[in-house]
Amino acid sequence: MSNKLDFITKKDFYNPAIFKALNEKAKERRNELIFAELFTDVPVEKNVSGIKFTNSELLIELDKFVIELGRFPKHNEVRKKLVNINVSINTLMSVFRNMGHMENVYTEWVSNGKLEDNTKVTTRRKFTQVQKDFMLKHITNCEICGSNKNLELDHYIPWSVGGNTTLENCMVLCKSCNMSKYNKLPITNKEAIELKKEFEKEFNRLNKLN
Ligand SMILES: [Zn+2]
Repeated sequence: MSNKLDFITKKDFYNPAIFKALNEKAKERRNELIFAELFTDVPVEKNVSGIKFTNSELLIELDKFVIELGRFPKHNEVRKKLVNINVSINTLMSVFRNMGHMENVYTEWVSNGKLEDNTKVTTRRKFTQVQKDFMLKHITNCEICGSNKNLELDHYIPWSVGGNTTLENCMVLCKSCNMSKYNKLPITNKEAIELKKEFEKEFNRLNKLN
């Protein structure tokens, strides 16, 4: 199986439209794997760390800097809250992996007309024990090779590009498939082709609106 993707680059993930389409895809995928009724038993988690914001909430905070300074802020300026915002630099840096990522996401958001994006982002990378137990109870084989040994959870949309640590965005993989999948998406060329079609549809739709 080839993991090579020449039409989805890391930068693509930073496009809010693509990110949204990917999240939809992840959800759809999850619904196919586990019948919807199983989700009636999804355990409620209490006191799970990882503060959640929507993409829009974070971008609106960054927008305050641009309005005030007339440009995108520097790391130091965000850290010192040169402009009064409701999130800390630590939260921002755990959601957007670096200042470049942050600026890319912001720029895309502005160029798309500051669309509302209610995708929840979390600062927590590790899956909780409750999430693990739930998934491994229902999916007993590696989703790539079918092995039932050394199973673990991994992000479908890689965490490093903004994938959430949720049941919708997780997959069950054996240790060796997990290691070979590291930061790659999607896992099969068939899925990649489907995703590309969806992106094109979304782009055409956005272009018509502009
Ligand atoms: Zn495997």
